[in-house]
Amino acid sequence: MPMEKPNAQTIEISELKARLAEAEDTLNAIRCGEVDALVASGPNGDQVFTLQGAEMPYRILVEEMNQGALLLIPDGTILYANTQFARLAKTPLEQVIGSAWQQFFPRDKHLQLEGLLKTTEPVTPPEALNLMAADGSSCPVQLALRSMHSAGVEGFSVILTDLSERQHSEDALRKISVELLEKNGDLNAFSHSVSHDMRAPLRTMQGFARVLLEDYASQLDPKARMYLGQIETSAERLSRLINDVLSYSQLSQVQNQPGTFDLANLLRDIVETYPNLREANIEIVPFQALVRGYEVALNQCVSNLLGNALKFIPKGVTPQIKVWAERSKGHWRLWVQDNGIGIARKDQGRIFDAFSRLHSNEVYEGSGLGLSMVKKAVEKMGGRAGVESELGQGSRFWIEVPTA
Ligand code: ADP
Repeated sequence: MPMEKPNAQTIEISELKARLAEAEDTLNAIRCGEVDALVASGPNGDQVFTLQGAEMPYRILVEEMNQGALLLIPDGTILYANTQFARLAKTPLEQVIGSAWQQFFPRDKHLQLEGLLKTTEPVTPPEALNLMAADGSSCPVQLALRSMHSAGVEGFSVILTDLSERQHSEDALRKISVELLEKNGDLNAFSHSVSHDMRAPLRTMQGFARVLLEDYASQLDPKARMYLGQIETSAERLSRLINDVLSYSQLSQVQNQPGTFDLANLLRDIVETYPNLREANIEIVPFQALVRGYEVALNQCVSNLLGNALKFIPKGVTPQIKVWAERSKGHWRLWVQDNGIGIARKDQGRIFDAFSRLHSNEVYEGSGLGLSMVKKAVEKMGGRAGVESELGQGSRFWIEVPTA
């Protein structure tokens, strides 16, 4: 019988079968570990990358690293070093290889380094070590050691990260913050002493204005009496401002250790101390809230919030103030709610800035420092402050202070 001539389709099928068999053989070899390979799926189907011949790319990778890299045999002799290590040690690579790694570190660290070579777990000593360069200079490095006993090679790999850049930045940052603290301290001392010194002459002016008004009123015409009244009012305003600036600077000087305080006790003491608060009939929902903070700071927060709740009330409206506390995630949140004039949403952020006021002194007296003091005080204790309010709908201010 004459053999049938294979048509193009049959040829294609047998070619495809052959390729399939080849692919199966490759996959089997990969599965059995005969070939190190990686199969990566991509838009053009699966691609197989063998790892044979990967030594070169690895070497390039290690040479290009920013870190120094060493291979040590168990006694600490350097079997391999990358060029970055030679650069850090300022020593030619040929001299590095074959030398003892300890020699690149201070003598008093040699015992520690020997200890590192006894471990089988990966280690990263917590503190930086000084790598000593051939020219006598040194640079701080962070070591990361890994034993290679399990990989069929006896020895250790060591990676050395140069910390000098980081240390320079940290030093610069530390210097700047010390300078900042000093400047801040100077500024506070300055504002404290200026406001303190301003008190005495101001009191004299207030005193004489009062004497004039009380003892010489009959000799003064109404216009002169009005002027004197204005002097007295302005002097009182200035006196309040000075007191606020003093309290503000006092806050910065709180340096002692924080203590434990019960917000409820503190609140009760404040209400008892100020006659206007005592008479205001404030509703306090009973609670006990032990917080960690500074007494001066806590007092300023609470008294400022209560003072504002009482002050920003429309004329003719009886203040209704309610105070309560809630516990939330490591903090106590103290709420102070009033039935006052309220604050528009757009203004709620800026009222916590120093000297930021929404009203003139003719309408509501103040220095604009109260809420900034509240914010500064709670932040000093690791807390926060905020407000919920609508214009004309009263306000609810809150402070959060860490629990004791
Ligand atoms: P001061 O009370 O001296 O004006 P604050 O810093 O305490 O300064 O407050 C800043 C501004 O925030 C106030 O001038 C006022 O406009 C607004 N404010 C503060 N508390 C309240 C409140 N309880 N109700 C309405 N507005 C308030």
